[in-house]
Amino acid sequence: MSDSELEVLDGQQRITSIGRFITGKFAIQDDNGMQQYFSGLAEDKQKKVLQTKLLVYECEGTETEIKEWFKTINIAGVPLNEQELLNAIYSGEFVTLAKAEFSNSQNANIQKWSAYVKGNANRQDFLERALQWVSKNEVSKYMSEHRHENNITELKNYFNSVIDWVSAVFTDVESEMCGLEWGRLYELYHKTSYNPNEVSEKVQELYADSYIKNRKGVFEYILGGCEDTKLLNIRIFDDAIKKSVYAKQKKEAEAKGISNCPLCAIGNNSNKTKIWLLKDMDADHVTPWSKGGATSKENCEMLCKTHNRGKGNK
Ligand SMILES: [Zn+2]
Repeated sequence: MSDSELEVLDGQQRITSIGRFITGKFAIQDDNGMQQYFSGLAEDKQKKVLQTKLLVYECEGTETEIKEWFKTINIAGVPLNEQELLNAIYSGEFVTLAKAEFSNSQNANIQKWSAYVKGNANRQDFLERALQWVSKNEVSKYMSEHRHENNITELKNYFNSVIDWVSAVFTDVESEMCGLEWGRLYELYHKTSYNPNEVSEKVQELYADSYIKNRKGVFEYILGGCEDTKLLNIRIFDDAIKKSVYAKQKKEAEAKGISNCPLCAIGNNSNKTKIWLLKDMDADHVTPWSKGGATSKENCEMLCKTHNRGKGNK
């Protein structure tokens, strides 16, 4: 091939189909069962299609190497996923050893790993995670650098350190732990010491808290010292509560001739007597959730948006 031309090794059918659809050669069925040509799609959908980036790997090699890749890529007609493709691109001793450890469904450790890592050994999910963790998400770079090494010591040790750390800090295995970014959390927190019994109690306490909408965030919340409540997605006040508290505050404020935002009312500027509209206010926990405050009418206070933001994390 000349310098300016590339040969499509894999994905030719996909590329051709995209091209044919965009140039109006065929229609697709939309959500309502209607046939839609590209030109008939809404402008934002057209734009979305046109602006979608495709991942392309450019390979260089001898004819024999190219044939070898082609063979790998076409295993049983199942399209390769990202990691399988990387395994093909960086094939060699390192990948062979890494696959023997992480992609072997007979490995007795897989059951333990599955508590924390989502996926399937055969589809390279454990290998992918191990590489992401050790390389801080620079998988391709890492594989390229280690391609010709004949040991996977660093990869294996790092992965085991993460798994051992998680299982030591969190002694109970909860289903929400599976698939979390343990590599990132390990980097951030493995030097902090935790008392597993206290951690376990905290997990149980938070799991029993019906105000917490995001249980997946419980673990990072605890690791970070129970400060960042954003991770937990605490249940917010519903519209009925907001409207009722708003009406009450407004009535009282008007009677006193002060602002209906209690913080504006005690301030010393033009907003001191301002009556805010409901849409310009937000609900706030009087006693913060983290100190046991409920998401109830009794614990709700409407503040103007500026003051609510100013109160920050609660
Ligand atoms: Zn205010």
